[in-house]
Amino acid sequence: MTNPHTDVATLARDLRAGSRAALARAITLVESRRGDHQAAARELVQALLPHTGQAIRVGITGSPGVGKSTTIDVLGMHLIAQGHKVAVLAVDPSSARTGGSILGDKTRMAQLSASDQAFIRPSPSSGTLGGVAAKTREAMLLCEAAGFDVILVETVGIGQSETAVCDMTDFFLALMLPGGGDELQGIKKGLVELADMIAINKADGDNLKRAGITAADYRGALHLLAPRSEHWHPPVVTYSAMAGTGIAELWQKVTEHRKAMTASGELAQRRRDQQVKWMWSMLEQRIMARLRTDATIRGKVRKLESEVADGQVTPAIAAERLAELLQ
Ligand code: GDP
Repeated sequence: MTNPHTDVATLARDLRAGSRAALARAITLVESRRGDHQAAARELVQALLPHTGQAIRVGITGSPGVGKSTTIDVLGMHLIAQGHKVAVLAVDPSSARTGGSILGDKTRMAQLSASDQAFIRPSPSSGTLGGVAAKTREAMLLCEAAGFDVILVETVGIGQSETAVCDMTDFFLALMLPGGGDELQGIKKGLVELADMIAINKADGDNLKRAGITAADYRGALHLLAPRSEHWHPPVVTYSAMAGTGIAELWQKVTEHRKAMTASGELAQRRRDQQVKWMWSMLEQRIMARLRTDATIRGKVRKLESEVADGQVTPAIAAERLAELLQ
């Protein structure tokens, strides 16, 4: 019997024909650590490459509780009503430690998960951030080949995962809460340098006025920073995922951004730069994986590590010796 995981041509055909089972299987293949699976996955993604790249790729970040899943649920349904097919992916390297993903969990997006125009996949649950992000990026390409024309990639507002998601998307959306004393936090974290838009959620009820003030604060702060593009000044909007207000306006900004970036050629350039960055990132991962998994090399790594720690060998010489081993 042929292994369904390694029959790449059939998998590619079924995926293109719109089989959700084939798409899920293809992503599992991409996520697998087995050598033969990884080789098949590379072949699969390469075969599907001509059918990728057409989607609007949006990264969404925000601290836990800001309303990411509520927003994705409502925004996703809004997009489906407009005729889009929406895939939701996640980058959550912490799930490697907790053993389960909190992002991209279907139960958090009740409406969307019931729609046959949506596909939701939780974060790959093991590996380094680089590994998790690379797999999510390939999953995104598979979703595009399967006909999904909007990809939402969710991440939490911690560490480098935001940079990784920004590096795989066309538009990076930062969600914030009204007031609360931690406003402008994103500015300090440098997040705003990544964000193409800041959206203040929960602009409803008692929070309505506070959301307006917070938005004005962000606008003022953004004004002081040099924008990343001369064709796009990141807007600050307020909305309520719960009430559904401001969602259409929020998406309107995404499409305005797309028009401006397409016209100026920046979208194409951003994607070209991203592709090259991904190549280097994957090369780095392969080298690191070899250092970790090759038994002979691992033994030498340990020995050199302790010699460096004891001050018998300089880090420079140890690095040189390890580099020679990789040749
Ligand atoms: P996540 O952790 O960022 O995915 O946040 P959730 O989407 O799970 O939302 C966290 C909490 O905020 C939940 O209790 C939501 O019901 C609530 N919430 C989300 N959006 C809104 C909103 O627009 N207004 C209000 N008042 N509550 C909201």
